[in-house]
Amino acid sequence: MRTLGVLGGMSWESTAVYYRLLNQGVAQRLGGLHSAPLVLHNVDFAPLAAMQAAGDWDGAAAVLAAAARGLRQAGASALVLATNTMHKVADRIEAASGLPLLHIADATGAALRAAGVRRAALLGTRFTMEDDGIVLQRLRRRHGLAVDVPPAADREVMHRVIYEELCRGVVSPSSRAAVVSMIERLRAAGAEAVILGCTEIGLLVDAACSPLPVFDTTALHAAAAVDWMLAELEPGAESGSDA
Ligand code: GLU
Repeated sequence: MRTLGVLGGMSWESTAVYYRLLNQGVAQRLGGLHSAPLVLHNVDFAPLAAMQAAGDWDGAAAVLAAAARGLRQAGASALVLATNTMHKVADRIEAASGLPLLHIADATGAALRAAGVRRAALLGTRFTMEDDGIVLQRLRRRHGLAVDVPPAADREVMHRVIYEELCRGVVSPSSRAAVVSMIERLRAAGAEAVILGCTEIGLLVDAACSPLPVFDTTALHAAAAVDWMLAELEPGAESGSDA
């Protein structure tokens, strides 16, 4: 197996889910006592979240690039950035580390296409829903998907629930009800599926309560990473940033 580097801690609540899914995925495929060959750099999210809020993406890129170089030195030969929002600086992390980064939008876009979805709604942080350069443009251009985002008032609610609740381990029934009604409005407006485009939203909403089929970026990204760890080592076989 190939060793995966995980840039986590954004927040650790979702990194814990990645950790479980990566290990479960390898154990299911190989059986026995097999587990995932990983090196994890878990950042302190508070200063990074402050940089996001201040628009200091250069500062965030520098912190994550240094962490990625450390993962390479520790033996990783590809990276998973365990957050959608920080994919804003994915290219810089990849360039600085010299490691291929398994992009979260590629894992998501491939799953949507495989399911025959043409028009999906995206939930995530305000950054992810409003800035084309995180996952939106990649889903639209590279994967040919129509992607809707909720209206401004709903974007504010989603953003607040992520940072004030889910990233702090708070799962609230009233926030779940608010997000489910948001998804219902997106369905009524024509979306065929909902992308949980923030790695914590799966802690709140799942297929059982969602009015639309759910594409959870955490689960899809972890599954793509398991494929990469187990893939034959042949150039171009895995889904790197150009997949
Ligand atoms: N984990 C979240 C995401 O997937 C939000 C936290 C962050 O800003 O990194 O976007």
